[in-house]
Amino acid sequence: MDKALLSGRAAYHPTLPICADIVQVAGELKVALLNGYLCPANVWARILAYVEVAEASAQRVCESCGKPGKFREVYWHRVYCDECIEPVVDLERTE
Ligand SMILES: [Zn+2]
Repeated sequence: MDKALLSGRAAYHPTLPICADIVQVAGELKVALLNGYLCPANVWARILAYVEVAEASAQRVCESCGKPGKFREVYWHRVYCDECIEPVVDLERTE
């Protein structure tokens, strides 16, 4: 099996679910999961539900401090609260 994986002749099927990647794409949280062949369907459904909640709430939680925030197109497409962007706004005002 391992030799087959190393040679690229076999697809990877984990025993238990694993998180393959967590990235931020244009302000949205993306979690890539692989299901495990020993994982019961109801457990897999619960994992997906938790990830769905995390991805949805990431769109309104400041990624710097965790307070309620909103999507900022002018701040590199990221989610920040008003307090976390305030210093940058102040700098612009003093120039
Ligand atoms: Zn914040």
